[in-house]
Amino acid sequence: MKKHNFSSGPAILPQSVMEEAGKAVVDWNGMGLSLLEVSHRSKEFVSVMEEAQQLTKELLNINDDYSVLFLTGGASSQFYMTAMNLLDKEETACYIDTGNWSAKAIQEAKVFGKIVEVASSKDKEYVYIPKDFTLSNEAKYLHITTNNTVQGTQFQEIPDVNVPLVADMSSDIFSRPIDIEKYGLIYAGAQKNMGPAGTTMVIVRKDLVGKLNRVIPTILNYKTHVDKGSMFNTPPVFPVFVSMLTLRWLKAQGGVEAIQKVNEAKAKLLYDEIDSNPCFRGRVAVEDRSLMNVTFFAQTPELEKAFSEVAKANNISAINGYRTIGGFRASIYNAMPMESVKHLVKTMRDFAKQYA
Ligand code: PMP
Repeated sequence: MKKHNFSSGPAILPQSVMEEAGKAVVDWNGMGLSLLEVSHRSKEFVSVMEEAQQLTKELLNINDDYSVLFLTGGASSQFYMTAMNLLDKEETACYIDTGNWSAKAIQEAKVFGKIVEVASSKDKEYVYIPKDFTLSNEAKYLHITTNNTVQGTQFQEIPDVNVPLVADMSSDIFSRPIDIEKYGLIYAGAQKNMGPAGTTMVIVRKDLVGKLNRVIPTILNYKTHVDKGSMFNTPPVFPVFVSMLTLRWLKAQGGVEAIQKVNEAKAKLLYDEIDSNPCFRGRVAVEDRSLMNVTFFAQTPELEKAFSEVAKANNISAINGYRTIGGFRASIYNAMPMESVKHLVKTMRDFAKQYA
């Protein structure tokens, strides 16, 4: 029986996408060849890459000042590639520290420039999004992590600043509309809201690349990939193909505006249950709650253990919280059906009847 999969990543993908991807692995479009054994320079794959880039631009309303790249190395590689490509050694960038991943981004960026941490919620175990900060006058960009996968917080208002934003959107890209004008660069690992692990999307304003004094290895230089349309070397063909299928699916759902409404409804259902169920409590500041990763605790360690068992017995998968935080985390990305959220809510309600 198919499980209700609340994994934080690699995460749920639309069922129709997985079925189509499976077929293409065996025989792609009746070619008598697997998608996995076709040249990335073939006209068939080139059209996949172009469609994935085009759909990204269409869905997120991105103009031609930007390039859409599908790179490898995970979002973690972007922690250093962003600074390496956008910041000379003596230059300054500002960062907001909202969780494990932003802290890693800060650590890696420090290798390449002067990094000023302008705000952090570490003092309260990252349960909120800091809103007051002052940028350094010399800042070239401000880095934010729009959704904090581990903690379950999310920027509900994207800061208005007078420098380009560089944003890690690994766990909320395509979940809501964005105002592209605010961003110099966006990056996101595919494996949450887009496709399988193995590619990282980078959306970069073309005029920002290739401007530094630093010598950058060719493969790590955004300009290389911008100039070659993300086809400088062999791209991760399978993750790009599946991402393209997911973006087609998203378009068929009505695009990001439509999916945002569904995401809001799913998150409301679950948060309302957490707030009213006597066995549970939410983990983070209400106004900063993530619509993608819902984190909550049981009221006691005994209840936590019991609910873990009950969830498992009810076909619910991967709901345990991050290893250093504990409790529960239900990741409800775009592809998570409303029925699965309703199933989780019902399981929590039935649990309370027995244990409260
Ligand atoms: N940023 C965020 C917000 C993440 O959630 C993750 C992974 N969970 C990463 C970065 C790191 O991504 P990767 O494993 O692709 O390097």
